[in-house]
Amino acid sequence: MKYDYLIVGAGISGLTAARIIAENNKRVIIVDKRSHIGGNCFDYKNEYGIIIQKYGPHIFHTNDKQVWDFLNKFTEFNNYEHRVIAKVKGIEVFLPINIETMERLYTREFNKESMSEFLKNMRIELKEIKNSRDFALSQIGEELYELFFKNYTKKQWGVYPENLGTEVLKRIPLRFNRDTRYFSDKYQGIPKNGYSYMFENMADNKNIEIVLNKDYRDIINDIKFDKMIYSAPLDSFFDYKFGRLEYRSLKFELKTFDFEYFQNSAVVNYPNDFDYTRITEFKRFYFQKTQKTTICYEYPQKEGEPYYPIPNNKNIELKNKYLKEANKLKSIIFIGRLGLYEYLNMDMAVKKTFLCLDKTNI
Ligand code: FAD
Ligand code: UDP
Repeated sequence: MKYDYLIVGAGISGLTAARIIAENNKRVIIVDKRSHIGGNCFDYKNEYGIIIQKYGPHIFHTNDKQVWDFLNKFTEFNNYEHRVIAKVKGIEVFLPINIETMERLYTREFNKESMSEFLKNMRIELKEIKNSRDFALSQIGEELYELFFKNYTKKQWGVYPENLGTEVLKRIPLRFNRDTRYFSDKYQGIPKNGYSYMFENMADNKNIEIVLNKDYRDIINDIKFDKMIYSAPLDSFFDYKFGRLEYRSLKFELKTFDFEYFQNSAVVNYPNDFDYTRITEFKRFYFQKTQKTTICYEYPQKEGEPYYPIPNNKNIELKNKYLKEANKLKSIIFIGRLGLYEYLNMDMAVKKTFLCLDKTNI
C-alpha cells in the first residue's frame, strides 16, 4: 500500500492535517509513539466516571470562526467558561486582574477610571520592553507583578520572567472591567463528550489509517509515501545537529476524594506557595455530577515530556536555524507546537496547520 502522506504525531495538529487531506481524497497514515490519539489534549474517563485530561487542563477558546466551524463538525462544545482563582495573601481572587480582583485585594471599590488611575501610580515606565518582567512592570507595577507573576513563573519555567520573551506574560491580559473569565474569546467551551471523542471523529475517515505505539523512525522504512507532515520535535528530526531546543516539562499527580467538590473553580493557581503551580478539578469542565472528585496537581520539571517550548533568545535563534533547514525540505511540512517549536494554543495549532496546508498543493 502506498500513502500520499505520512503524518508524524496524532495530536490536534496531525489530525487536522489528516482530516483535510483525507477529505481531498488522498490516503494518509498517521504514526504516534503514544498509545492513544489526541496528543496532549487527550482525555479519558477514570474508574469513578470522571473525565480526566491526562496532560493537564485544556480549555478551548478562539476568535477564529474558520477554526471553530471546523472543529464543530466533529463535536458539540459545551458552554463552559473558564474562571481561574489565584490564592494570594490567604484570599481567593480572579485572574486575569480585573476590577473585582482589585476590590478584593485592596478592600475598596473601583471602577474603570479609578482602577486606571491607581495602576498609573503603580506602573513603572520603561524605555524598552525586553522581556516578560519589563512587560508586567510597565502594566501593573512591582507589587502586583510580585504577587501574581514573579514566583509562579519561576516555578513554571525554572527562571524569572526577565529571562523569558514578552509573549509569556502577554498571554495574561489586564482588564478594566468586571469580566472574571480567563478568556474573552468569542468562542469557548469544552467538547461535550471529551476531546478524545472529537479526535475519534476527526480520524474516522476511510482514507485515514493510524499506527500507535510506534516511533516514526522505527517504521518509516516500511511505509511507502509521497510527502511527510511532521508534528514531533523539530530538533529531533535533524538529530539535534545544531544542539537541543529546551522544553519545560510537567509532572501530574492525581488524587481522588470521597466528597463532591475540592475547590471553588476548575483551576486554582498558587503563585507563591507550594512546589506545584495549580490544582485542576476536572469534573467542572464537563459539568459532571459525581459523588467523588478527582483533582490534579501540576509540578513543573526540567526533564521529561516536551510540553512547553521555552521562549528565550538562545532557543529562538536555534529554532530559526532548524526552520531554515526545514524549509529546504520540499516534501516535508513541519507543523504543531513541537514541529514549529512555538507555544501554540489548540486553536492556533489548527489555524497554523490550515495555513501550512494552504501553501501546499495537496
Ligand atoms: P501534541 O499534542 O504535542 O502532539 C504531538 C504528537 O506527536 C504527540 O502525540 C506525540 O506522542 C507525537 N510524537 C512525538 N514524537 C514522535 C515520534 N518520534 N514518533 C511518533 N510520534 C511522535 N491549549 C489551549 O488552547 N488551551 C488550553 O487550555 C491549553 N492548556 C494546556 C495545558 C498544558 C499543560 C499544555 C502542555 C498545553 C496546553 N495547551 C492548551 C496547548 C495544547 O496542548 C497544544 O496546542 C496542542 O497539544 C498542540 O497539538 P500538537 O498536535 O501540535 O502537539
Ligand atoms: N502566570 C503567572 N501566574 C499565574 C498564571 C500564569 O505568573 O497565576 C504566567 C506563567 O509564566 C505562565 C504564563 O503566565 O506560564 C501564561 O499563563 P497560562 O495560564 O496561559 O499558561 P498555560 O495554561 O499555558 O500553562
